Amino acid sequence: MEVALLGTGAADGWPNPWCSCASCTDARRRGEQRRPTSALVDGVLLLDLAPGVPPAGHSLERVHTVLVTHAHPDHCSPFALLWRHWARLPAPLMVVGPAAVLDECRPWLASGDPVVLTEVRPGQSLECGGYRVRVLAADHEVPTVLYDVTGPGGDRLLYATDTGPLPAATVEATRGAQYDLVLLEQTFGDVHDHGTSHLDLATFPDQLARLRAAGAVTAATDVIAVHLSHHNPPAAELDRRLADHGARTVLDGTTLVTRGRTGGPPPRRLRLRSRSVEFRRLGRSGLNISEIAYGNWLTHGGQVEEDAAFACVQAALDAGITTFDTADVYAGTRAEAVLGRALEGRRRSSYELFTKVYWPTGKGRNDRGLSRKHIIESCHASLDRLKTDYVDLYQAHRYDTTVPLEETMTAFADLVRAGKVLYIGVSEWNAEQIAAGAALARELNVALISNQPQYSMLWRVIEPEVVPTSEKEGLSQIVWSPLAQGVLTGKYLPGEQPPADSRGGHAEAGTSMRGFLREDILTAVQGLRPIADDLGLSMAQLAIAWVLQNPNVGAAIIGATRPEQVHDNVKAAGVRLEDGVLQRIDEVLGDVVERDPTKTARG
Ligand SMILES: [Zn+2]
Ligand SMILES: [Zn+2]
Ligand SMILES: [Zn+2]
Repeated sequence: MEVALLGTGAADGWPNPWCSCASCTDARRRGEQRRPTSALVDGVLLLDLAPGVPPAGHSLERVHTVLVTHAHPDHCSPFALLWRHWARLPAPLMVVGPAAVLDECRPWLASGDPVVLTEVRPGQSLECGGYRVRVLAADHEVPTVLYDVTGPGGDRLLYATDTGPLPAATVEATRGAQYDLVLLEQTFGDVHDHGTSHLDLATFPDQLARLRAAGAVTAATDVIAVHLSHHNPPAAELDRRLADHGARTVLDGTTLVTRGRTGGPPPRRLRLRSRSVEFRRLGRSGLNISEIAYGNWLTHGGQVEEDAAFACVQAALDAGITTFDTADVYAGTRAEAVLGRALEGRRRSSYELFTKVYWPTGKGRNDRGLSRKHIIESCHASLDRLKTDYVDLYQAHRYDTTVPLEETMTAFADLVRAGKVLYIGVSEWNAEQIAAGAALARELNVALISNQPQYSMLWRVIEPEVVPTSEKEGLSQIVWSPLAQGVLTGKYLPGEQPPADSRGGHAEAGTSMRGFLREDILTAVQGLRPIADDLGLSMAQLAIAWVLQNPNVGAAIIGATRPEQVHDNVKAAGVRLEDGVLQRIDEVLGDVVERDPTKTARG
């Protein structure tokens, strides 16, 4: 099942819009807003009819059943039924709940609406379009039920919000359930004298202990605290304390995926968090970057491609990506202009902008390389196109053997002191060049904090020399082509012509693309598919997660031609691959992996 948390907050959300307590202030500072609790299962089964509209990217269009717990307005806002009428959806909708819920709904139905109201009581079961729903008792101020939902694949969810300590009959009813996912309310945090039928940080762990004792919650159960209010401690402390009890919180809009139990590999729980891109420090600096960075390059820069790039930047921002990488040379400078337009109007401190200099941007002798003249001029041109006063990271796109390194590094240092560039980095430099650059940067008192190499399961040439040197000198790798030009998505099959709609991706990587399209490589890559399947990942997600296992990697750059690709790739964030998995990958790929350090910058 895919369970989207449309809301995880109490009636008043968190922060409470009227409040400025420490907990509300912290949530606002983080830009987090929780809505009243509700969840959407596989897009078709809606748990609670919360007020307001779902978070961005979630639609109720396919919902055929609404399971409402009780008639309190944060769970039962039947105005939404009138919205459905306005959308003129002809498909039938079943609304399930205690009698009082149905009474609330009736006035909002127009005659002829294809809505069926179904009253339920604790102890009943019903079948809703392939889902088995058991109705359990709650302890709340008004008649309230909890829902135990088993999906078509056999995976199982407990939705338990708006209840005090669980009635004994409810715990008994869950005996042996081995839920994949439990959404359990925890409204009041450290306020214990609330005198209401809700849980708090004192009573929540007790309920989990009871569910564990009954075999309903196991080590494999993902337990999410919902119905959170501002009576809770700030998020970081709350997460720490919930972790002690094997529970956690997720942000609104998060989608959790459980796997079916019928057929296929053993049940597994996988956490796909749609807004949980994690952050890493870049090199030995204070700069935080998103571990998935969006790489804005274009192949030709035509209008269709520019529109797609624009949409992908929006998708990246929606997905929680804050780090954007481009270069003066991409699509003859048009990539920077598109990125500048896409980011225009956003708070400048809310994202990190990286660009590069080296490759020719014009026909003149000085329109290329790492001379002082070209670095300064190209930087100004980039700032114009990007519509910003500074870039966060300015990178030497290659090493320039024709210019003294001192000249290059001094020009970079001057840009830093002029405030046009905050940090400096390099791309595809070898270990020796990185060490020399780092030594000069130290002398000039500026921070050289990153290298941008090609890196993937198939192309590991940085591992023997570049990575150890970078660790010593305080640089991280921002890696490009984690999918090896798309070969690691598995879409190129051995013995077949490449799909017509596939593209080489990175503008300067045409030769390595051909290099990866070898029969032995394509055959080995197909061996990764069962590994990805076992983990519930796509092959692309596995490949991106793989590069992020290297602690010297600050970010994996992803590119996209469609917004869905961004959302798909982002799901690799935060995935931890166990040693056994890494070993299986190495065994499957065998000697098609390139590890020769002298091939740096020759990919
Ligand atoms: Zn409530
Ligand atoms: Zn507050
Ligand atoms: Zn309530």
